[in-house]
Formats: sequence, C-alpha cells, structure tokens
Amino acid sequence: MIQVAINGYGTIGKRVADAVRAQPDMEVLGVAKTRPNFEAETALEKDFDLYAAIEERAGQFAEAGLEIAGPVEDLVDAADIVVDATPSGIGAENKALYEEYDTPALYQGGEDADLVETSFNARSNFEDAVGADHVRVVSCNTTGLSRVIAPLREAYGVEKVRATLVRRGGDPGQTGRGPINDILPNPVTIPSHHGPDVETIFDDLDIDTLGMKVPATLMHMHSLNVTLEADVDAADVRELLAEESRLFLIPESMAIDGSGKLKEYAMDVGRPRADIWENCIWEESISTVGRDLYLFQGIHQESDVVPENVDAIRAVLGEADAEESIELTNETMGVGL
Ligand code: NAD
Repeated sequence: MIQVAINGYGTIGKRVADAVRAQPDMEVLGVAKTRPNFEAETALEKDFDLYAAIEERAGQFAEAGLEIAGPVEDLVDAADIVVDATPSGIGAENKALYEEYDTPALYQGGEDADLVETSFNARSNFEDAVGADHVRVVSCNTTGLSRVIAPLREAYGVEKVRATLVRRGGDPGQTGRGPINDILPNPVTIPSHHGPDVETIFDDLDIDTLGMKVPATLMHMHSLNVTLEADVDAADVRELLAEESRLFLIPESMAIDGSGKLKEYAMDVGRPRADIWENCIWEESISTVGRDLYLFQGIHQESDVVPENVDAIRAVLGEADAEESIELTNETMGVGL
C-alpha cells in the first residue's frame, strides 16, 4: 500500500484525499492543516489523521476541540509520497521539508514549473514523471487544454493552438475574489501564462492563449481553435475525442446550455461535491473549416486535477504505466460521464 501524506487540506487537498482513499493500492496516512476550520473538522469526521502544518499554531486545534496526530514533519517522514496542495507559492517553501525527509512530492499548478523535474498530465506525459522526486500536476486550465491537445497531436498533428480562457472569478468558497460585475481581460497582456504552461507538457507545441475573468464561480470556459496538420472532418474529430476517457462530449439531446446545468447534472448523478473531473466539450461546437478545428469546453477548476494527482502518485513511484493507472483511477473514482 502506498502511504500518501496530504499537506494542505483545502479545495484541492480534500478532494485528493477522498480520491486516494478510493484507490485499492493507496492509503491516506494523514492530512496537514495550518489552522482549525470546517475542513479540519470534516477531515476528522472522515477519520483522516490530522497533523499540524505550523508548530506554533498547533495549540489552536486543541482549543477548537480537534485532536492532532502530530507535527507535519512526522507525517512527511512516514509517508511514501506527499501531495502538497497548499496555496500558490507555499509549495515552493515546503520543498526543503520534503527533501529533508527524502520524501518525493507532488505540487500543484500554482507553483512555478522550474520548482520541479517535470510538469505532469497523465494522458500526455505520464512517463516523464516516472522516478522523479518533485513533480508538478499542472493547473486546471492546463490540464483541460492538454487532454484535448494530446489526442489531436497523435491523430492529425497540430500546427498551432489558439485558446481564449474565460475564467471564473473565484471558487464558490472564495468570498473575497471577483469581479462581481465586470468582464476583465486577465491578464491583459497577451499571451497569458497558460500557453507557456501547456508547453511544459508538450515539446515543440505552438500555442497562444488569452485570458479573461468573469463574475462566475462554477467553471471555466475555453474557446479553442486548433490548426491541424491535415484537413479533417468534424465527425472524425468527434469520434476521436469521444474515445478519450476524461473528455465528456455533451450530447445535444441533454440540453445543457452552460456551466449551471453541467453542475446541476453532476449533482443529479450524485457526484461528490458536484465535481466534474472530465473536460466538458459541447459536441455541437466541434466544427472544422479546412484544417481549423473549433470547440467550446467547460472545465471544473476545483476537480479536474484530482484524478491527475492520483495518477502522478503511481507515476512517481513507478507503480503502474499510464494506461493501467488511468483505467484504475477512472474506475475507482467513477470518472466517465
Ligand atoms: P485552498 O486555499 O483552497 O487550500 C489550501 C489549503 O492549504 C488551505 O486549507 C490552507 O489553510 C492550507 N495551507 C496554507 N498554508 C499552508 C502550509 N504552510 N502548510 C500546509 N497547509 C497550508 O487552495 P486550493 O484552491 O486548494 O489551491 C491549492 C493549489 O492547487 C494551488 O497551487 C492552486 O493554484 C492549485 N489549484 C487550484 C485550483 C482551484 O481552482 N482551486 C485548481 C487547480 C489547481
């Protein structure tokens, strides 16, 4: 059994903890938090051992009536691997801790690519992470783009990708984020950082991205244009993408017109936290004009990276190849709408 430590039990960390627990070859050794809150309470209710991430604040947990199993150092020392799901930039600060205990670590998309040996997307470059000690699971947007680009590159070759990312202002729990009544070019400079981030996954990919932020919390929306190396029929692209286990092609018959209904659908089918681990591509939007492919896809920012973290654990520890890991993760989590 792979013993997994999770440092940072917030939006991403708590989801990764549940996904790891669902794996037949993994165990959650414990989760670390900086302070008591509702997530610390539910961690204990779910029988996860809770560790204090900051020693000086450990007393706060006792004051809140929450039992602590020890300092985060004990957790890191005992684990086979750490999933660092702390806020952007904190992962970099934690790297020395993981090195001190010689424990391999996964970081999240908020960290810089140069912190790690490789960035990771299971469908695109699983093998690059095999045996690495420090690996970054790329952001929600980069994950979403990589999952579509990988099969297109393999099937047709990709000359150029252009993507406009209409990004949610904040996650539902991020009460301080915005905008609340505006549409922002964000970042206003072009290209946005997302394109270079996708290039950390693919060698020699030509991609430009533009970012915007809107008053929404549910999901991101990508408007994608890919110039392929061959003339392709839209029906063939639909068939190709439909084969991909982490791409959900929304059929016209479902009458899902946006993120709101997608989330409603996720709730109706009983998804935990209404999570949508798959890219949601509107099937009708898949169109071609000569070598140019166009489509719209919705990306659930809080959850699409979760199965990727599970696969990255197996990659780093050399426990499975890409196909085996993706299949097992999908089956145990229930990925595939
Ligand atoms: P979050 O704020 O929801 O959760 C982070 C957790 O880490 C919180 O519980 C916080 O208290 C805890 N924490 C803070 N400092 C810590 C420390 N020193 N040690 C241990 N824990 C600490 O953040 P998040 O949204 O889960 O983001 C985590 C990472 O995942 C970031 O790199 C982010 O860029 C990336 N990411 C976020 C999303 C998203 O939409 N939320 C999507 C993909 C990737």
